[in-house]
Amino acid sequence: MEINKKSIKKLSSIVGKNFVKVDLEDRICYSYDATNLSYLPDAVVFPRTTQEIAEIIKLANKEKFYVIPRGAGTGMSGGSLPVKGGIVLAMSRFNRILKIDTENLIAVVEPGVVTGVFQKEVERLGLFYPPDPASLNFCTLGGNLAECAGGARAVKYGVTKDYVLGLEAVLGTGDILHTGVETMKGVVGYDLTKLLVGSEGTLGIITKITLRLLPLPEAKQTLLAIFDKLEDATHTVTNIIRSKIIPTTLEYMDKTAVFCVENYLNIGLPTDAEALLLIEVDGEKESVQTKGEKIRIMCLETGARDVEIAKNVEESERLWQARRSVSPAAFKLKPHKVSEDIVVPRTKLPQMIDKIKEIGERYGLTVLTFGHAGDGNIHVNFMIDQQNKDEVSRTHRAVEDLFRATLDLGGTLSGEHGIGITKAPYLSMEIGPIGIDIMKRIKQVFDPNNILNPGKIFVE
Ligand SMILES: Cc1cc2nc3c(=O)[nH]c(=O)nc-3n(C[C@H](O)[C@H](O)[C@H](O)COP(=O)(O)OP(=O)(O)OC[C@H]3O[C@@H](n4cnc5c(N)ncnc54)[C@H](O)[C@@H]3O)c2cc1C
Repeated sequence: MEINKKSIKKLSSIVGKNFVKVDLEDRICYSYDATNLSYLPDAVVFPRTTQEIAEIIKLANKEKFYVIPRGAGTGMSGGSLPVKGGIVLAMSRFNRILKIDTENLIAVVEPGVVTGVFQKEVERLGLFYPPDPASLNFCTLGGNLAECAGGARAVKYGVTKDYVLGLEAVLGTGDILHTGVETMKGVVGYDLTKLLVGSEGTLGIITKITLRLLPLPEAKQTLLAIFDKLEDATHTVTNIIRSKIIPTTLEYMDKTAVFCVENYLNIGLPTDAEALLLIEVDGEKESVQTKGEKIRIMCLETGARDVEIAKNVEESERLWQARRSVSPAAFKLKPHKVSEDIVVPRTKLPQMIDKIKEIGERYGLTVLTFGHAGDGNIHVNFMIDQQNKDEVSRTHRAVEDLFRATLDLGGTLSGEHGIGITKAPYLSMEIGPIGIDIMKRIKQVFDPNNILNPGKIFVE
């Protein structure tokens, strides 16, 4: 379904000629995401209004071209890639915060707003939007909704879907749907809001979002626990959760991750350690100190050789910079990575980490693990060189073993990165035929001509 010149002209008349790009260099800029895979779109279109998007989708249905929504292109599963051609719908002009209601604790935003910018804006008003993907300084709220992004604070505060009250979306038919409420409760009809959250741009283009906010916690404390034994670190995670102190974050980095970040940032991380836990607690000043101290003691009792407490905001930021840099720093090891995002019940974390080590050894692969250990969510990165065909083939087999082990332990294939194209071949390992059939029928209702983001979630 390649787009023709006539359609390009019509697109220009909808959004204005400056907002349709067909030059190769522009198309290359919108051809990739964080997976390192690349597919050229036929054109890149920058709409400004919901009405324009509705017209674009109607045109796409009539003239048969695909439409692929894109936020910042930081996705880890290929969701924004035009795998079958068509136009990339870049949402960057939808970048306004429309309302922050400090009395009802809600905000209304456009999907192209950068997550970190939004967080700073609400924090200035003493409010708090907890979902904090490590990419928050560049990813968008629209992309976060489409993937149901998580982040370090999910242990205590949950993920994106827990904060979405309602939205506006243009469906694959061109119809404009309004879902949800601007109230704290609402159970009228099926929950179409939640259905669109996590739908990876396959059911509708999100054009407006109503978000729930919280009061900004009064204080927080950041701790870095250093372990000489990997199993002590994973057992500490399960102990902390079992103790019923729920920290705000409970992040984990293995030795390889620490080595890469230190090489990348040079900030004095202990490269001789086997694992680090980055833990944060928040709340009222006094309770933060009590919780922080309990966690510090617990870490030392379960084998930490040292626990550093950040003395000020700058020190805490330095530690978070280290954690958020793991993904780019990993390329210090090899030019490519196959990045998985599995989750297991938290008590199974030590077993899962052992399994990952075993799988890496079985296939002779360099594996780097880090992630949201407090949620049982581990990012498993097989570091490879894609020119090495044998290494690529071993990695495919390792990924399959990883997924099987995850499911055997009662886990799930993706905690926050979504299915996209990279995990589509494995969907049926977790979702049975009835589930897949219902999902496909839902897709058919929202997007009968398969215009929106084809080739994602399901293998076509
Ligand atoms: C360094 C790094 C760290 C990361 N850390 C985390 C993390 O901690 N937690 C986490 O969850 N993820 C993380 N990610 C993954 C990624 O940042 C998230 O998935 C993010 O939500 C993607 O947002 P985006 O704006 O870049 O979306 P894109 O990558 O552009 O798109 C992602 C998906 O959303 C769809 N989409 C985008 N906008 C819309 C819209 N308006 N309407 C409908 N569909 C739309 C696209 O079609 C695509 O399917 C990380 C990525 C990187 C590179």
